[in-house]
Amino acid sequence: MSLRIFGSLFATTVVFSTLGGLANLVHAVQVSFKAVAPNVYAHVGDIEGRTYENEALNANIGLVVTPQGAVLIDSGATFSSAQDIAQAAKAVTAQPIKWVINTGGQDHRWLGNGYFKAQGAEIIAHAGAEADMKARGLEQVQANVPVLKDKQAGTTPVLPTRWMQGADNTLDLGGVSFKLVYRNGGHTPGDAIVYLPTVGVAFTGDVVYVDRILGLHPVSKTKTWVASFEALEALQPKVVVPGHGRVTDLAQAQRDTGQLLKALRAHMGKAVNDGVDLAAAVKSFDARPFVHLKHVEVWLPQLANRTYLEMEME
Ligand SMILES: [Zn+2]
Repeated sequence: MSLRIFGSLFATTVVFSTLGGLANLVHAVQVSFKAVAPNVYAHVGDIEGRTYENEALNANIGLVVTPQGAVLIDSGATFSSAQDIAQAAKAVTAQPIKWVINTGGQDHRWLGNGYFKAQGAEIIAHAGAEADMKARGLEQVQANVPVLKDKQAGTTPVLPTRWMQGADNTLDLGGVSFKLVYRNGGHTPGDAIVYLPTVGVAFTGDVVYVDRILGLHPVSKTKTWVASFEALEALQPKVVVPGHGRVTDLAQAQRDTGQLLKALRAHMGKAVNDGVDLAAAVKSFDARPFVHLKHVEVWLPQLANRTYLEMEME
């Protein structure tokens, strides 16, 4: 009797886990690395908000293959999507992911770290990200639970193991030179640009949004964001892999991000100086150059608001 119960329980478990496995296969986020230069790849994520389907991997990530291992730029928002990323990397290289660089403190830049650390990867970020990651890691995991539900399983904030200091670092990873360019962040305090000087490719993380409007959060600073953006311009990259939106060039990055930040700061700075109140300043901002950006109607009033308040404090 007890054996039969055990047997039927066992059978039920097998059926459920098989179905669960199938469901995961059906719903796993599609990660696909496309070449942007020799041995350099990008996955272009969804430009919509976070959904159960996109597993909060609504952002771009990069992969650089060196003779001694692969370098992943950003690890996704969950343990499970990190596995999807590792699987997609196998489609373009036999090299294991030995290094992960987190370009900032937002969920999809680093909450997949746990998977790669368990595989033995070294996790690198700028030290400017440390306080933000420690302060908001758990909060960001929890904020995704209502959207990601079971796909959030196993996700915990796992910090980088190597922190870089200073504005301009050069890292030699697997014999390839990487520059980590940091101007005190912007979208988050730890935002840094990863630049490959040999091929002229910049992985900008959240320093650049194209096709969709950028986001400002309580931790964001437009002042340092502009400085980070100008550091990107100084590199004169041939290829820009933005944090969000298609792989592009510097001109589109300027149109969709740099000019928007500068226009917001110019308008709100003048309004603050002239004693124009917040509501009037937000209303009089000229949005016409930016109406092509997705989600502009939802986000622009908030961007205008936050920029005014930030500039009032400067
Ligand atoms: Zn982002």
